[in-house]
Amino acid sequence: MPPTSYSTGLSAWGAPHQPRAAALLNDPLLNKGTAFTERERDALGLRGLLPPRVFTLEEQVGRSLAAVRRKSDALEKYIYLTNLQNRNETLFYRLVMENVEEMVPLIYTPTVGQACLEYGSIYRRARGMFITLRERGRIAEILRMWPHEQARLIVVTDGERILGLGDLGALGMGIPIGKLSLYTACAGVHPYYTLPITLDVGTDNASLLDGEFYIGLREKRARGKVYDDFIEEFVTAVQTVFPKALLQWEDFGNTNAFRLLQQNRRRLPSFNDDIQGTAAVALAGVIGGLQLTGGKLRDQRLLFLGAGEAGTGIADLYVAAAQAEGLTEAEARQRCWFVDSKGLVVKSRAAQLAEHKLHYAHDHEFVATLAEAVKALRPTALIGVSGMPQTFTREVVEMMSANNPRPIIFALSNPTSKAECTAEQAYTWSGGRAIFASGSPFPAFELNGRRHVPGQGNNIYIFPGVGLGALACEAREVTDSMFLAAAQTLASLVGQEDLAIGRVYPSLTRVREVSLHIAVAVAKIAYAEGLAHRPRPVDLKEDIASRMFQPVYRDYV
Ligand code: NAD
Repeated sequence: MPPTSYSTGLSAWGAPHQPRAAALLNDPLLNKGTAFTERERDALGLRGLLPPRVFTLEEQVGRSLAAVRRKSDALEKYIYLTNLQNRNETLFYRLVMENVEEMVPLIYTPTVGQACLEYGSIYRRARGMFITLRERGRIAEILRMWPHEQARLIVVTDGERILGLGDLGALGMGIPIGKLSLYTACAGVHPYYTLPITLDVGTDNASLLDGEFYIGLREKRARGKVYDDFIEEFVTAVQTVFPKALLQWEDFGNTNAFRLLQQNRRRLPSFNDDIQGTAAVALAGVIGGLQLTGGKLRDQRLLFLGAGEAGTGIADLYVAAAQAEGLTEAEARQRCWFVDSKGLVVKSRAAQLAEHKLHYAHDHEFVATLAEAVKALRPTALIGVSGMPQTFTREVVEMMSANNPRPIIFALSNPTSKAECTAEQAYTWSGGRAIFASGSPFPAFELNGRRHVPGQGNNIYIFPGVGLGALACEAREVTDSMFLAAAQTLASLVGQEDLAIGRVYPSLTRVREVSLHIAVAVAKIAYAEGLAHRPRPVDLKEDIASRMFQPVYRDYV
């Protein structure tokens, strides 16, 4: 909404209170920049304010793409794209959507990791909301300050575990902003309805507390009752102010993430992408990989490095999927094994284990290293979600390859610098047999004349479609069965052309089509489980497709 009046002492000079139509140029949802037509320039009072030549959207995209490519540094590209988004969202989204493989790594992982680290220095313009401990008792009032009448999709972080980078406090804002941009680019959720929020509860990152350009509260992270009460007030305020909103929890530390998900997932439509979105994309990758190995999901033995949100989330969804293939829950859990920072997760460690690991603490002799665990357990798939780079060593990959004709090796830790091994290492050490996927993108790699294209096990294939589906039918809850359906749908879209180059995900260029299919699958479940508020449309796919944002300019006159 344009500002309603000017502030400061301007009026004392005789300036009018109302901004002029030129405010259109400063509203990124309405601005067309040099694409305002001759008639619009006259009718809207823009004559003289723009350079004379009228450009088409296509020409603007070409110009912006050239500007991005001129910059050699990824962070500089991110800054350019952020400024473009703040200036003209239609152009920004058209550029991203037409160049999705080039732009997604710039607006999200891996560049967003660096952007968060530098967020204090590169901060230019308000976007989203910061709600801090100082606003306790008035969070609803703060949410009402959001200039859009409605928010339907909120991504919220408290900055405690940003990607694999740890506690970045208020600098974590890059994540909700980036995620919501992906919702729009990849699933067509209208940007008007999206609201990125950072809950600033302090930080335990000493370098930030002393940092010259740190933008957040300079105090230690709140814990315990103060934290819990703050979150409770926030959730209640969201329900009151934005009753139709879906709330996505993002990059919370794992002591809070599991709890907050459990406490809130039946109160309002809500999910945690690090747990559930990751689970679905990884499971889809395993199902895709089985098309190459020829195995069955129920017969796999999964070994995870890292027993946090991502790892146990994936295992939980595997358990649901294997149960659907006929295993009992206990049998399915027995097929998932974990190595955490202390070694193999086993029953004898139970007294010291966090609750989310207990289901997977099996009867087995303790071994301290990943290599020993691979040797003892002979897993068919190795999944890295530890945030610890270079932990899939040559020895580990060689052992996986000795035990399996086509070992599944997923190095999912983000950003690229945290990956458990690189694509090149996985292919080289396995003699080209590894079915490899990673969290951040790796380039294709040629070995002995064969081109291997690593899949990107990026949640981007899952959460935009899940969110779109849940919003379209106004789902009361976002359930695990929706994520399972999302994983199965994604896996079903992997084509022979993908498998031929070893890629267990569809090309990212198909992401909007993928999101639409997932949205339909999610909405079908909501209708089947009686969780949808909206009456079911005759043609679900057509209805959802018609709600997807398209980056085209409107005609003002
Ligand atoms: P988390 O903090 O909840 O869990 C990390 C786990 O790794 C903990 O169990 C910890 O004990 C374990 N760990 C730490 N050091 C270890 C070591 N040296 N050896 C073995 N285990 C060790 O974090 P998370 O949310 O589970 O995320 C973990 C990683 O997965 C991050 O790097 C994140 O970027 C990545 N991730 C990727 C995707 C994706 O690509 N789809 C999605 C979510 C998370």
